[in-house]
Amino acid sequence: MKLGRARGTATRQARYSQLHRDREAAPKLRTMFPVVEQLRFELSFEGGGAATPVPQSHVLHPPARAYFSFPCPYADCDGQFELSAAVHAVVEDPSHRIEGVLECAGSRVSDFRSKPLCQLRLCFTLTAVCSPPH
Ligand SMILES: [Zn+2]
Repeated sequence: MKLGRARGTATRQARYSQLHRDREAAPKLRTMFPVVEQLRFELSFEGGGAATPVPQSHVLHPPARAYFSFPCPYADCDGQFELSAAVHAVVEDPSHRIEGVLECAGSRVSDFRSKPLCQLRLCFTLTAVCSPPH
């Protein structure tokens, strides 16, 4: 049991440093989407039973990194939610607002012998504030 927990922690630390490196390597938001003044992510979760993670919101501004992967909020899960396709869609959509659902494809590693699939659902609302075309 102790071994399992230690292993899960190491996995999570490795995952976070990988995410950090990926984020540092990403272009700036203003480079990738020059018209975008603000991106807002409203994230809520379903399917976690009693321990369903609390909702999150994130706002990105032009100097931020254009990096749109969010790690699964479960500490023992190795999954992440990839929202870059949704970001491209919301920038192109005339309403600049989209909603969607993603399911976590990660495994809960706390019990690394059985590795149950996480399958936590992320319900997201993504809104973009864009400057008018010049
Ligand atoms: Zn997960």
